[in-house]
Amino acid sequence: MEPILDIKGLEVAYGKVEALRGLDLCVGEKEIVALLGNNGAGKSTTVSTISGVVRSRSGTITAFGRDITAAAPWSIVERGIVHVPEGRRIFSRLTVHENLQVGGYTVRETATVDKRIKQVYELFPRMAERRHQQGGTLSGGEQQMLAIGRAMVAGPRLIMLDEPSMGLAPLVVAQVMDAIRSINEAGTSVLLIEQNARAALKVAHRGYVIDSGRVTLTGPAGDLRTDPQVVEAYLGA
Ligand code: ATP
Repeated sequence: MEPILDIKGLEVAYGKVEALRGLDLCVGEKEIVALLGNNGAGKSTTVSTISGVVRSRSGTITAFGRDITAAAPWSIVERGIVHVPEGRRIFSRLTVHENLQVGGYTVRETATVDKRIKQVYELFPRMAERRHQQGGTLSGGEQQMLAIGRAMVAGPRLIMLDEPSMGLAPLVVAQVMDAIRSINEAGTSVLLIEQNARAALKVAHRGYVIDSGRVTLTGPAGDLRTDPQVVEAYLGA
């Protein structure tokens, strides 16, 4: 099957720092793909380049059969690719409900936005309970759910999550991973960037390990979980 996202030979540099050096990666329809790697490996750069926020020096990014390598960030969102950046960045003074409405800014029909917000409340009942609460007063896990929920209101076909488990307690990480699984089962593909390889490989179908801007290992999540190199570098004893 044709991948929905296909990256070939991606090179990105920040001045003299070469962040990506010929990265190849693809995401299939209805797949959860984990992107693993140490600090500075190039994970965030990969998603920022897909979303059009960072420009590549060479290589191509094809999404849903179209070349989006030089597309503007808003047009990438309109094509159905939404990025939830690291650190959540919800609007702390806005209520939960208002934050979700912001997620629908590229959606023309108000009825569609309302329908999707309702779906988010079904997915995260906690958000429904707290719809009038200010975003900044939510717990870390709730803020992560809100950030994911807000992205879902844009109606993504591919959602890219940058370190959703960061700073969360293990039980809360498990809840966030369950939410990711539910979103995926409802039909959205997921590119999941994680330092927490254990949690990511539990929920993902496939994974990539990147190092110094290149893929060093890729395969089904089950294979990566038992790969000696992954076990030693990312999973520990
Ligand atoms: P982390 O998990 O620590 O966020 P990462 O795998 O996401 O790491 P990137 O943030 O993509 O890695 O960084 C890749 C390389 O590019 C690193 O060497 C980093 O220092 C460098 N880099 C990232 N952003 C910039 C920037 N805006 N200016 C200069 N160098 C940058």
